[in-house]
Amino acid sequence: MWSYQHTGFTVHQLPVLRDNYIYLIESHTSKVLIAVDPAEAVSVRQACKQLSKPLTHIFNTHHHWDHTDGNLSLKKTFGCQIVGAACDTERIPGIDIRVSEIAPPTIPGLHVAVLAVPGHTSGHIAYVVDDALFCGDTLFGGGCGRLFEGTAGQMWQSLSKIATLDGHVKMYCAHEYTLANLAFAASVDADNRVLAERIVADKALRQQGFPTIPSTLDSEKNTNPFLRPLNREFCHNYAAAHGVQNEAGVIFADIRRRKDHF
Ligand code: ZN
Ligand code: FE
Repeated sequence: MWSYQHTGFTVHQLPVLRDNYIYLIESHTSKVLIAVDPAEAVSVRQACKQLSKPLTHIFNTHHHWDHTDGNLSLKKTFGCQIVGAACDTERIPGIDIRVSEIAPPTIPGLHVAVLAVPGHTSGHIAYVVDDALFCGDTLFGGGCGRLFEGTAGQMWQSLSKIATLDGHVKMYCAHEYTLANLAFAASVDADNRVLAERIVADKALRQQGFPTIPSTLDSEKNTNPFLRPLNREFCHNYAAAHGVQNEAGVIFADIRRRKDHF
């Protein structure tokens, strides 16, 4: 378990399954302890024991089993409240609190905003807790989620929305896919020096057994090929090199398509 200090709360990171991360958000000013996307229950129970605190909430970003499988077991143990997208209530096991952009959850001691970010699934949401972003399978380190239920246009809108957040925001995504994503990134953004530096740094982290997550939104904007279309020069060069229209959404769709076959 790794822990990251924010003002007013701590984020604990639990590596589970093959490459998933579960996060625990521990408020410093209330009894609130939230599990974000509990893929399973055992490691969350263990962490709660370690922190000597019961789980009060679960935040689900979307309905996939590797984000919700711990829901019912943890609810049984702790009687915690399960928070999920109002537009996806049928698919979030045990949902208690239905949230949306205009109806975020009220959590004692924490300021929580909700972003609708469809693309990976139609009901995918992200949680912004001050300067911490919990984005599930929408944005990854150096990558983005596959388009299971949405269009490239929807995903591009969702990522563009996330990109409006401050560059210092810490990005806590739900999978450790960074190195594989960056290998692809290098294939479509070969001249990017910041990307080359990130690859060296993140490889070293993994070799030493550390996570590459959280990263920052600034780092993602500079190196993530799925946010790079926000940069005009990148678009200009990409369009010329690949013979596609010089338009951010079109370029995003082309990069997403290429990644599926990489
Ligand atoms: Zn998923
Ligand atoms: Fe997932």
